[in-house]
Amino acid sequence: MARRYGAYGGAYVPETLVPALTELEAAWHQARRDPAFRREHARLARTLGGRPTPLYFARRLTARAGGAEIWLKREDLLHGGAHKFNNALGQGLLAARMGKPRLIAETGAGQHGVATAMIGAALGLRTEVYMGEVDVARQRPNVERMRLLGAKVVPVTSGSRTLKDAINAALRDWIANVRTTHYLLGSAVGPHPYPTIVAGLQSVIGTEILRDARREFGREPDLAVACVGGGSNAIGTFHPLLRTRTELLGVEAGGPRGSRHGAASLSKGRPGILHGAYSYVLEDRDGQIADTESISAGLDYAGVGPEHAFLRDSGRVRYIAVHDEGALAAFGWLAHDEGMLPALEPSHAIYAAVQEARRRPSRERIVVTLSGRGDKDLEVVRGATGQRA
Ligand SMILES: *Cc1c(COP(=O)(O)O)cnc(C)c1O
Repeated sequence: MARRYGAYGGAYVPETLVPALTELEAAWHQARRDPAFRREHARLARTLGGRPTPLYFARRLTARAGGAEIWLKREDLLHGGAHKFNNALGQGLLAARMGKPRLIAETGAGQHGVATAMIGAALGLRTEVYMGEVDVARQRPNVERMRLLGAKVVPVTSGSRTLKDAINAALRDWIANVRTTHYLLGSAVGPHPYPTIVAGLQSVIGTEILRDARREFGREPDLAVACVGGGSNAIGTFHPLLRTRTELLGVEAGGPRGSRHGAASLSKGRPGILHGAYSYVLEDRDGQIADTESISAGLDYAGVGPEHAFLRDSGRVRYIAVHDEGALAAFGWLAHDEGMLPALEPSHAIYAAVQEARRRPSRERIVVTLSGRGDKDLEVVRGATGQRA
């Protein structure tokens, strides 16, 4: 059962969770082969989500960089404003298929909680979202959104009262309520089969990129770039491109300039176990999970999905870290050059893409996954740049 990516992955969980993970894996494999499930999934992805999303040529951003062409994969146009919809819809349908009337989820910034609440409402599933008390206080608008969508938000008061504690609380709930409840995990992390399921559900991003690139440029992109928090939008971008000649670049959060490790587990961490999987993690000097820092809440996580650990070691994907300052600069470029306010997470990827474009010839094409829009980040950007909105 415990599928691995090389040495990474697995399912390091209490015995009581093993039957639930086995049931989930079996349901996933059956659902993927069931034409009725696939039809319903595709229909809702289109009519509720807004798929497919376009590939946009960023003409003025390209001119700013002065080199390779930069194209944006517009996941910011999805329902809810981010790629998180892809995962929430797929797992929500899977829960309904398994006959589970209740969804639980963890959330940090609240984006995954909102996506789960949206899907819970649309599918008629009761939804409870675990959120660290610190995050509840600093992400008020998303707490309000979840409540308006009919979800219950449960503040978590243990540990550092942030995302990792919310995941622990959700896992504890799942152990106690496994018969009625599906745990809708929000990224390509956690015990098997979650990294596989989430990668499968997000791979629509890379599949559409490949199809549209072949139509628009007559071939695959030269380089694909995506930001990496837990790694779901990046693995979804990379998966369908792994067997092509496209270079792949994952961009982690470096935190403020001078930060020891930011939230860059692959660039600055080492192998270890977190939330049921063996992957790269950031630890402090005592071997405890380290506190991370990043301007973007969605990248602020001490671990990363195990498949990225494998792809890093194999050399197939290159991973770098971009500082807060770079992300803020890229936010401004996209606003001024293209009239788009990106989320701060993909702003890290846009910064890296512009640096890459500068050193490449104009015949090359770079595709960047714009994983979400930036409405949620306006307060942070205003605070960081000292501007008045
Ligand atoms: C949550 C989030 C991320 C980070 O999550 P991944 O699982 O690494 O994709 C990136 N971009 C946006 C817009 C997000 O909301």
